[in-house]
Amino acid sequence: MLSRTVAFNTLGCKMNQYESDSLASDFINGGYKVVPFNEEADIYIINTCTVTNKSDRKSRNTINKARKRDGAVVVVTGCYVDSSKDELERTTGLTFVVENLSKNKIYSMVDAYFNGELTHENGISSDVFDFHTTNKGLRTRATIKIQDGCDSFCSYCIIPYVRGEGRSRSLEDIVLSVEDHLKEGFKEIVLTGINMSCYSYNGMGFVDLVKRLLEIPGDWRLRISSLEPDKLDSSIVELFKNKKMMPHLHLCLQSGSEAILKDMRRTYTYKEYRTIIEKLRVKYPLFNITTDLIVGFPGESDELFNESLAACKEIGFGHIHTFKYSLREGTKAAQRKDQIPETVKSDRSEAVRLLGIELKRDYRETLVGTTQSVLVEKVTPEGVAKGYGEYYAPIEFKIVHRDNIIENSFVEVKITGIGLGDDPALIGEIVTL
Ligand code: SF4
Repeated sequence: MLSRTVAFNTLGCKMNQYESDSLASDFINGGYKVVPFNEEADIYIINTCTVTNKSDRKSRNTINKARKRDGAVVVVTGCYVDSSKDELERTTGLTFVVENLSKNKIYSMVDAYFNGELTHENGISSDVFDFHTTNKGLRTRATIKIQDGCDSFCSYCIIPYVRGEGRSRSLEDIVLSVEDHLKEGFKEIVLTGINMSCYSYNGMGFVDLVKRLLEIPGDWRLRISSLEPDKLDSSIVELFKNKKMMPHLHLCLQSGSEAILKDMRRTYTYKEYRTIIEKLRVKYPLFNITTDLIVGFPGESDELFNESLAACKEIGFGHIHTFKYSLREGTKAAQRKDQIPETVKSDRSEAVRLLGIELKRDYRETLVGTTQSVLVEKVTPEGVAKGYGEYYAPIEFKIVHRDNIIENSFVEVKITGIGLGDDPALIGEIVTL
């Protein structure tokens, strides 16, 4: 019998990607075949996002596309479900509408559905961390979820309402999950969560957790996906002494203006943010800092916006992910009368985008001359190997004999130049030992 086919469309954050990868592995292990979302499939799974109005729109459009596939099982899950469940349950053509809390049970639900067993997601007990090991082959890095939810209630953010209060996965469970993924053959582990710096388990914080993970032996490396700066102190700096820790942090700044940060109810100042960066750069001068930045928050005057631009230049970010402020009903910022017109937000977003391109190139140029360990993700038929170096910049290098370089292996590469374009790869050559 031909395998049933399943197609995923994942919107939003790395957490969603992690959860989709784990679900895809469940389906593969159950004998299903994963196919691209634009192909015919027996099951379509849409893992939605609701962080901005644009995410809601994208989620709805993707759901509507899947609903048009006659006879297919359509499963909708993710944060848009948590924020708009009633509306989705009234929508025809959806087989299952699954809240985040029951997301990890989707494989069992669908499989039971095909077996003609009674299934409804509401009756299934849930553990938000009960996702299985991702199969090697889905991607080069394994993302491990360590935390869910958030207690911070930043004034613009709807996530605490849809993902619920902060919960941390047990240390033992995380260690086991990392070990399982390393056994699967992954060489790079990425930790993810909604607000990882709030990790707390049996008196252990985030830094303690990372220290424990770094004790796991083997030729592998660790990255941290995205961190909120508020709970961090200088103890994070010491972590990067360990060779397994990659010198890169995505530290969400959101605004370079002290006044806007306060209005956003962020619990750090720009000055405190800059102090962490300075400490990192004193020890590791080439350390890569990337960030998220919101433009057009209510009350953001030209002057306050310029403070954000100045902060970006001062820090010298390796990448800036810009968001136009998006009004979310139910949040404190949504009640403000001093909303910024869309055209102004668009102009500001474009200004940050252009500055981000310039800063990215400036940062990557500082890496020319370094020798880095590259995790090879792909070798092209033309004999070019591609992967990411230690500082999370893309690196390409030519190989003479394809057989000498294997995907998912580490290769020492000396960086000799930089490519063209807005996201220029570093160009290197293999270091002969
Ligand atoms: Fe939202 Fe703030 Fe929590 Fe991040 S820290 S998820 S922005 S409330």
